[in-house]
Amino acid sequence: MLVDRYGRVATDLRVSLTDRCNLRCTYCMPEEGLAWLPRQDVLTDDEVVRLVRIAVERLGVREVRFTGGEPLLRRGLVDIVAACARLEPRPELSLTTNAVGLARVAGALAEAGLDRVNGSLDTLRPDRFETLTHRRRLDDVLAGLAAAREAGLDPIKINTVLMRGINDDEAPELLAWALEHDYELRFIEQMPLDAQHGWDRATMVTAEEILASLQSVFSLTPQGDVERGSAPAETWLVGGGPARVGVIASVTRPFCGSCDRTRLTAEGQVRNCLFAREESDLRGAMRGGADDAELARRWEMAMAGKAAGHGIDDPGFLQPSRPMSAIGG
Ligand code: SAM
Repeated sequence: MLVDRYGRVATDLRVSLTDRCNLRCTYCMPEEGLAWLPRQDVLTDDEVVRLVRIAVERLGVREVRFTGGEPLLRRGLVDIVAACARLEPRPELSLTTNAVGLARVAGALAEAGLDRVNGSLDTLRPDRFETLTHRRRLDDVLAGLAAAREAGLDPIKINTVLMRGINDDEAPELLAWALEHDYELRFIEQMPLDAQHGWDRATMVTAEEILASLQSVFSLTPQGDVERGSAPAETWLVGGGPARVGVIASVTRPFCGSCDRTRLTAEGQVRNCLFAREESDLRGAMRGGADDAELARRWEMAMAGKAAGHGIDDPGFLQPSRPMSAIGG
């Protein structure tokens, strides 16, 4: 098992399949993109599946989420999902995606064994979408989400980041849209993980502000921590339910004490926290001939050293050198 010195057990694996992305969300990546990882540094499909198998068979991982960068840019995605769906015990398989290319592949992913999708969408207005992402792809995103629904992927969750003066007035509109389409909306507080280091604690939109904005239009009933478990979103019933809305308040209401996540970057580094400043290299060991037991031992050691919290509020906090796109969000 992946246990740390505070007794937390990681059962939820986030696997980044690429550091590349076809959008340029301003809170994540500069318009010109980043220096992408050299191809030979990125794990092959077989290497990804082998590490996921070790996590599932030997380390107690029960949920696997593929992310990036943009995971739909990974050519072998459908085959990777299919191979992971054959593992015993069968893990729950999900995908975090900007949904730009999802219409094309949602059916094949569902057939391969994908269970659900988290789509990212910060605005419903085409001009804002272009300002926020530097691309004109809003229609593709909406079509991708509709295709995921059509393919039977359920639930479909939508991740939204609000930025002050850009889209922070759009929360009620986004929730009305999500309710209409039976998508479960979750607002994520902006975190200091952008490549440009432009995050500012003083100007970020807080969970409290998001809730106040939603409550100006909707009646919200808290579901409380009992329902929350180790899920990062605090949820509220909308209009008495059953529809829900979530807020992931990583900055103002951190949930590190119940974190159950372990992360694998596209080049095979284990990260025990989004904000970790150190990583453990599994790719080098794997390519050097390490057997499954040795890789599992290294993974366990990497997780044992997980910090108690992300420390964003500590005076000495240092943003990780990798941006979100290269960690896997
Ligand atoms: N490309 C995929 C997508 O758009 O969902 C997967 C990777 S993306 C890094 C995963 C999620 O992280 C997205 O929902 C995105 O909005 C969120 N994200 C990226 N940078 C963030 C930041 N600085 N703070 C909060 N969330 C962030």
